[in-house]
Amino acid sequence: MLKGLVASILVVGLTFAVTQSALAKHHEPGEATADQPLSLEALAVAFGWDLQGAQITAEKIDDGLYVLFGVGGNIGVSIGEDGVLIVDDQFPQVMEKIEAAIDSIGGNGIDYAINTHWHFDHAEGNNTLGPQGTTIVAHSNARADMAKGGLVNLVIAKYRQQAYPKAALPVLTFDDRMQIHFNDNQIDLMHFSPAHTDGDAAVWFRQQNAVHLGDVFNNAGYPFVDVDSGGGIDGMIHFCQQVLDAVGPDAIIIPGHGPVTDTAALARYIYMLTTVRSRVADMIDQGMTLQQVVDAKPTANFDEVYGPETASLGFVNRVYTSLAQQ
Ligand SMILES: [Zn+2]
Repeated sequence: MLKGLVASILVVGLTFAVTQSALAKHHEPGEATADQPLSLEALAVAFGWDLQGAQITAEKIDDGLYVLFGVGGNIGVSIGEDGVLIVDDQFPQVMEKIEAAIDSIGGNGIDYAINTHWHFDHAEGNNTLGPQGTTIVAHSNARADMAKGGLVNLVIAKYRQQAYPKAALPVLTFDDRMQIHFNDNQIDLMHFSPAHTDGDAAVWFRQQNAVHLGDVFNNAGYPFVDVDSGGGIDGMIHFCQQVLDAVGPDAIIIPGHGPVTDTAALARYIYMLTTVRSRVADMIDQGMTLQQVVDAKPTANFDEVYGPETASLGFVNRVYTSLAQQ
């Protein structure tokens, strides 16, 4: 089981490595890298996302709860007598396939969509769902970020996310905690601190004891910390620990990317984040520069599980930057 998990994460790591070299191809020779925002099409090529050809697959988590995998963030789906509630909605280009997948598991239309945060690979589908009448829900900061749009600095590339029109914006927002009572479920939306961004929501399905953490928990390699959007390493650690404390040891953990897993994997992730944070903080105290810290490879003993740090979206860079800002 663990061997299989490590192998699949390594494959993801390799995919990242390949896609990173694909990213490099989008720069003309001699052009300074990562300064020009990429188009969605270029970014999709770089990340190996086939927006037109993507297939959506469904995994049953428990009665009434599924996860859809496609292109972009994992989609949680609650299906029952009240209708369909989803967590994150990928892209308009795959919405017909998402709706077909929901039909095939017994749903009919999407009543509610919760966004775990404002990033395009989790929220762009709002542009289709909002105008169709789906009620969109998110943290208040995520709504503000979607309304403004802005540059997402992925370190190895930049992407300018469009400002969403009113019809694509959340109509219900919350600050710390919110409950939705739907399909005989209590669904808790929880925000503990800025983490991956300034407006992250974890979505806890009480009946199945399953929680979707969005990109605060990445199960496909080292996480991206969107420091330019108010995220930070200390917030990532705090947020994950608070979720773990809330849901208890038997919960099912749905990551923003990568396979569905358990609380042991989330606990190992918190240990990794905490260890790397402490190493980088020590190096900053010693006066080391960002480049010196990156060169010192503070993640080295975790790379076997999380893949090469060089294939991440500047994980050590973002840890350093968020600590140096304090
Ligand atoms: Zn994200």
